[in-house]
Amino acid sequence: MDMSEFAARVAAGDRRALARAITLVESGRADHRTQATALLEALGTARQALRIGLSGTPGVGKSSFIEAFGKMLTGQGHRVAVLAVDPSSARSGGSILGDKTRMERLSRDPLAFIRPSPSQAQMGGVARHTREAVALCEAAGFDVVLVETVGVGQSETMVAELTDLFVLLIAPAGGDELQGVKRGIMEMADLILVNKADGDLKAAATRTRADYAGALRLLRKRPQDPDGFPKAMCVSAAEEAGLAEAWEEMQALIAWRRESGHFAARRAEQARRWFEEEVRHGLLARLTSDPALRARMETLGDAVAAGGAAPGKAAAELLGEVARRPDKP
Ligand code: GDP
Repeated sequence: MDMSEFAARVAAGDRRALARAITLVESGRADHRTQATALLEALGTARQALRIGLSGTPGVGKSSFIEAFGKMLTGQGHRVAVLAVDPSSARSGGSILGDKTRMERLSRDPLAFIRPSPSQAQMGGVARHTREAVALCEAAGFDVVLVETVGVGQSETMVAELTDLFVLLIAPAGGDELQGVKRGIMEMADLILVNKADGDLKAAATRTRADYAGALRLLRKRPQDPDGFPKAMCVSAAEEAGLAEAWEEMQALIAWRRESGHFAARRAEQARRWFEEEVRHGLLARLTSDPALRARMETLGDAVAAGGAAPGKAAAELLGEVARRPDKP
């Protein structure tokens, strides 16, 4: 494949080329990795989108919200990409976007691109694929990239770490309890949206919003927030209500962060972490792909287990060998 032609097609917004490019970054094959790196290099980082993370437990209305919110954005001329990160698909082999028909209207929208989560790999691998998929969507000219994940813990942290803004979608609660949303996840949220604020659920949604607004006020003030943030609001994906207001708040928050330098600082920190993870990943890959190093690790491990070598010293010895060996085994 001619890499510069491939890159040109992605940059021209060709969705089939973009889909193929994402498949390439998701691949575990060494030759694909080399191509993926070359492709990302050729595309550069001149185009950047607003990256929005969105999380919520199954059934809260994520796909309904993304469909309605995404249609609103494309209606304003934005180009919207949706990427899904579903840690459970790693086990089940399914994916949150793959098995049911979700976001039907948005998926037919020429200004939108929807990508189901890959059905493989553990969280570390998913983080890398997702970062690279975001970069590809940006290079393809999408100006809003939504990264959706299911609310099951670890994946929220990962998504928050690769986006500019983290939105937590919740459902109206029956009682007055804060339906088991973990404190750590609340602390990551920039905006809490209580969905289904319509019909019979409207009153409950209003109460739930007030409960969350109260809980958010009790959290430690974060330097990256202007007054009034994080914020809790009511929306209805079904009635397409509150979406424009939510978008206004997101834009206000981002404008403030750009102005105050927090936006750039967060991106810089994310880029540094990405680089460090690539180094770690690369070192590990060297260790596991080179049979001689693998054998050495085994031998040293045996020595450590038998009490004949100190773990720290043995590790230093192995790392010295990694550094001395040529790149290609
Ligand atoms: P997901 O699993 O988080 O992606 O949730 P879905 O978008 O599939 O929605 C789950 C259920 O909630 C579906 O039956 C939707 O019709 C319903 N739902 C989603 N949004 C709303 C809303 O704004 N109002 C009401 N009343 N129901 C909604």
